[in-house]
Amino acid sequence: MKKYDAVVVGAGPAGLKCSETLAKTGKKVLVLEKDSIFGDKICAGGMTLKDFKLGIPSKITDMKFKKVIIHTPNQKTEVKQKNFFISTMDRKVLGKWMAEQAEKAGAEIRLNSCVKKIKNNHVVSGRDKIEFKYLIGADGSNSIVRKSLGFKDKDYAVAFQYITKKKFNNMELFFDYDKFGPGYAWIFPHGKYTSVGICSDSRNIRKRKLRKIFNSWCEKKFSTKKLELQGGMIRYGYKGHKFGNKFLVGDAAGFASSFSGEGIYFAILSGIDVAKKISDKRYTCKNIEHILNVKKIEDKIMEHWKKHKTLAEIEIEMITFLSRSRWISKEIIDHFD
Ligand SMILES: Cc1cc2nc3c(=O)[nH]c(=O)nc-3n(C[C@H](O)[C@H](O)[C@H](O)COP(=O)(O)OP(=O)(O)OC[C@H]3O[C@@H](n4cnc5c(N)ncnc54)[C@H](O)[C@@H]3O)c2cc1C
Repeated sequence: MKKYDAVVVGAGPAGLKCSETLAKTGKKVLVLEKDSIFGDKICAGGMTLKDFKLGIPSKITDMKFKKVIIHTPNQKTEVKQKNFFISTMDRKVLGKWMAEQAEKAGAEIRLNSCVKKIKNNHVVSGRDKIEFKYLIGADGSNSIVRKSLGFKDKDYAVAFQYITKKKFNNMELFFDYDKFGPGYAWIFPHGKYTSVGICSDSRNIRKRKLRKIFNSWCEKKFSTKKLELQGGMIRYGYKGHKFGNKFLVGDAAGFASSFSGEGIYFAILSGIDVAKKISDKRYTCKNIEHILNVKKIEDKIMEHWKKHKTLAEIEIEMITFLSRSRWISKEIIDHFD
């Protein structure tokens, strides 16, 4: 049985950043990825300025935006700034770039390697049994590592998207509690294609109902006839990230935002912290503390919106109205940056 200091399950942003950081400290790292390519993930690819502060080069973005158009049942508002504050990126491009960084640092990555079983000191992938000192579950919202730790909670948002060739020029967000529940729909143009999607909390709206609403909403904007409806989940329920010699990062740990569904940034940040913790036991996971503080505020807002529909509708209208002011829109943008 081959032995590694760390086995990372999943080559998404969390797993790739974690393995890069671990390899830089001299650890023998293996990443096991079930897909045959990097970044083949259902995602709108929206990135904010803070992602670039983590070293992702802004030149690999698809489009950059200085404004976002917000729609509510009663208003249409532009949240804008002088410089770009949000962008779109192709997940396959991001995946390839991050995999190159991890491999340059010395991590070994195996594609087409689905982890099927997790035991105390080894994982099983195909015919291979691989021994680990540390195991990192970076295998996304439907994580097998998380399940092996005994978590079966339903704290996640359901999301659907179409990838259409129809040209859209603006980044747009749509809030309509009556139709979508406490979630939102989006239009994220990438240049060559556009992600049009929706996400809402799994406990508030049935998946089938959301899909039906989304389809009829899309039909008014473009033809969905020949398009594949992609569905995914965004796990936001955090239950911990360190369990003895096993760790969870990114969506597997429930680090995605319950409020916006954003998860790439939190995946990368948590990947860095867990790698540093493994390398140095005295390391304080400041990034994870920060994520949990942000999540605490966002979870409170979401819980309030889920319980009080009418209040939520009034508050969303109020925030949208106030965001016409550049100062308030800057405050909102700063929260996400
Ligand atoms: C429709 C939709 C739109 C979204 N839009 C945005 C957005 O605009 N901006 C944003 O920041 N976030 C967005 N998100 C969330 C974002 O995609 C995730 O938060 C992010 O990808 C989490 O990264 P990760 O590395 O934790 O997991 P993932 O990116 O999911 O990577 C997990 C990896 O593990 C692999 N894997 C899974 N199981 C196994 C196994 N058993 N063995 C081996 N490998 C395995 C998978 O193939 C995958 O490559 C969106 C999510 C959805 C569903």
